[in-house]
Amino acid sequence: MESLIVGVSGVRGVVGEGLTPEVVVRFGAAFGTYLAGGRVVVGRDSRRSGQMMRDALVAGLVSTGCDVTDVGIVPTPTIQLAVEELETSGGVAITASHNPVEWNALKFVGAGGAFLSAGEGARLLDLYRAGTTQRVGWGDIGSITADRSAVDRHIERVLGLSVIDVDRIRERQYGVAIDCCNGGASIAFPQLLRSLGCAVVELNCEPSGLFPRDPEPVPRNLSELSQAVRKVQADVGFATDADGDRLSIVSNSGKPLGEEASLALAVSYVLAIRPGPVVANVSTSRAIDDIAARFGQPVIRSKVGEAHVVRAMRDSKAVIGGEGNGGVIFPELHYARDGMVGMAFVLASLAGQGVSVDELAGGLPRYHIVKESARATSATQDELTDIARSAFPDGSYDLTDGVKVMWENRWVHIRVSGTEPIVRIIAEAPEEEEASRMCSVVKERL
Ligand code: MG
Repeated sequence: MESLIVGVSGVRGVVGEGLTPEVVVRFGAAFGTYLAGGRVVVGRDSRRSGQMMRDALVAGLVSTGCDVTDVGIVPTPTIQLAVEELETSGGVAITASHNPVEWNALKFVGAGGAFLSAGEGARLLDLYRAGTTQRVGWGDIGSITADRSAVDRHIERVLGLSVIDVDRIRERQYGVAIDCCNGGASIAFPQLLRSLGCAVVELNCEPSGLFPRDPEPVPRNLSELSQAVRKVQADVGFATDADGDRLSIVSNSGKPLGEEASLALAVSYVLAIRPGPVVANVSTSRAIDDIAARFGQPVIRSKVGEAHVVRAMRDSKAVIGGEGNGGVIFPELHYARDGMVGMAFVLASLAGQGVSVDELAGGLPRYHIVKESARATSATQDELTDIARSAFPDGSYDLTDGVKVMWENRWVHIRVSGTEPIVRIIAEAPEEEEASRMCSVVKERL
C-alpha cells in the first residue's frame, strides 16, 4: 500500500508501481461486496492505462455478481449522472483527474451519483484490506454491457436546465476555443458547445491519453489556448483537466482568468436567478463571500474535496457550490463538479448581459490567490497549527481542514493534500505580494 494514496472517496497511484491490475481487481471485488450486488456504471478518462484498469476493475466487480454498464471514455460528472439516471447501485470513475499521465485512480460513486463519503470510503477500505470479498460461482457472474449514450443524456439535461436560456445563447453564435488536454472530456465538451450553437475551435480534443500539457487547468498550462483565442478571435476559451470536472476560462483578449473565476462567475449567475445559500471549501477565494453578500446570502465553508462540499450543500440546501479549483456544483442538475454546467453558465451570463468575458470578469471582486506546495508529508495537524500560530499570532483560526488563518480581507490555508504527497499552502490577499509573502513564511517554517 506504500505508493498508493487512499483519499476520501478513492485510491490513486502511479501505474505499475503502487497501482497494479492486481490492486484494481481487489478493489473491484471489494466495491462489489460493499454494494452487495446490483448494477455498476464504469467509465474512464483517456489514459493509456485506462483500458487495463477498466478490464481489471470489471473482472473484480462481476466476480462478486455485480452487473456492469460501461459508458466508455467520458467526463467524470457524466459517470455520476449515469449512476443517478440508470438508478444503479454505484459507479466507478477510472481517472487520476489533474495528475500527470503516469498516474491513474479509482473514484467510487454511491447510489444517487455522489462520491462516497469519508465514512463510506472507510467501510470500503476495510473490506479491501480484510480481503473478505463475496465471490460468486460461474452461474452468477455479472453481465457486462456497453452504453454509448451517457454523454448525449448529460448534454440533454444541461440544455433542459430552467436557469439557462438556450435559445438566447444559440442566437449569439459564440466562437469558442476549447482545450480538453486529449482527456476524457474531449468528445463531450465540444459536443455540448456545438449544441449551444457555438462555432468550436478544438485544441487537444483527441481522447488519445497523450497529454500535450500538464492536465491541471491553471493559467501556466493554458498558453496554447490563450494563443488560439487571440488567433481566431474567439469570444471565450475553455479548458478542463483530464476528467472534465474542473473548468478554466480564457477571456476574449486571451487572458486566463484563473480557475477561481469559474465558481465565482457561476455563483454570480445563479444567485441572480435563485437566491440561496452557497457552499465552498475553505481553500476557495473570498470573492465568493463578496458575491454572496451582494445578494444577502450566506457562504458555508466545508473541507476540501467534492464529497465534503456535497455533504455541506445537502445539509444547507445550497443553490450553488463547489471548489475554487474550477469545480462548479449545481444541485438542480446533480451533486457533482461539472465542467459542462460551468461552461453553460458562462455562456448564459455572456448572452444574458450582452457583454464580453473581459467585461464579465471585470465585475468580479479583485483578489490575488497564490497556491504553493511543499514536500512535508509527515506533517501532522498539530504541527501545522503550531507553525501557523508562531507565524501568524494575530489572525483568527479555522480548523475545518488543516489550518486556515484569516484576517478581514486576506487568509492563508495549510493542509496535507489528499491526492498528492505534499502540503498545500494557499494564500489570498488584495495584493499579490502579500499573498506570496504569506506562502513564503509558511514554506520557510515547514
Ligand atoms: Mg478532475
